[in-house]
Amino acid sequence: MVDSKMIINFEKSSPSNSRGDGKAKDKERISVPSTSSGKSQLKNNCSDEESETDSEESDVSGSDGDDTSWISWFCNLRGNEFFCEVDDEYIQDDFNLCGLSSQLPYYDYALDLILDVDSSHSDMFTEEQNELVESAAEMLYGLIHARYILTSKGMAAMLEKYKNYDFGRCPRVYCCGQPCLPVGQSDIPRSSTVKIYCPKCEDICNPRSKYQGIDGAYFGTTFPLLFLMTYGHLKPQKPTMSYIPRVFGFKIHKS
Ligand SMILES: [Zn+2]
Repeated sequence: MVDSKMIINFEKSSPSNSRGDGKAKDKERISVPSTSSGKSQLKNNCSDEESETDSEESDVSGSDGDDTSWISWFCNLRGNEFFCEVDDEYIQDDFNLCGLSSQLPYYDYALDLILDVDSSHSDMFTEEQNELVESAAEMLYGLIHARYILTSKGMAAMLEKYKNYDFGRCPRVYCCGQPCLPVGQSDIPRSSTVKIYCPKCEDICNPRSKYQGIDGAYFGTTFPLLFLMTYGHLKPQKPTMSYIPRVFGFKIHKS
């Protein structure tokens, strides 16, 4: 069930790279007309909030709207709506990133990309290397995100998204449209894709298809429970009814 689109493959470029691509290419080669196929097109597909900036960006000769940080660009990509924006401050604190540098290649470059630190590496790197940096940045952001959403600030950011039904609703009839929370089945990247947890029936299910390529480790196994412990008042009652199959109105005896 692991979606190959999501698996960040460091040997070859994967489709997910091409998303990261847009941003970096736009940044580096503003004069190339083909840039309009990158970031600006992706943005048109997804975000409502940024509809004002879209018109500026469709103008290729414009300044690329670099008021958008990599983080908000990434979080506004279609299919990335489950992610909240991690505070720059949190990322800049080395303590919070402890242990991540050994988990992925091009760590320092990926970190610079996430934090919009201008570095000249893209000039000395080949196209392929730049793509690797970009996919490393996506993975690094995901792993930082999994930690961040367990902090009070991160949880508050996820609360806003939860209230907004950003994570979808439970499909079960007796859960009556209960909003869900994202969860991973493993904290190890590339083990499984993100699922949604329903606080009412306390079960997990697959999110809508556009989210089925996201790595579950970017949300982790701990988040929903800690979230509901933190915001205890949001924990709903268990469903009062459950479905009982009947034949012509009669329950069938188990034997
Ligand atoms: Zn449910």
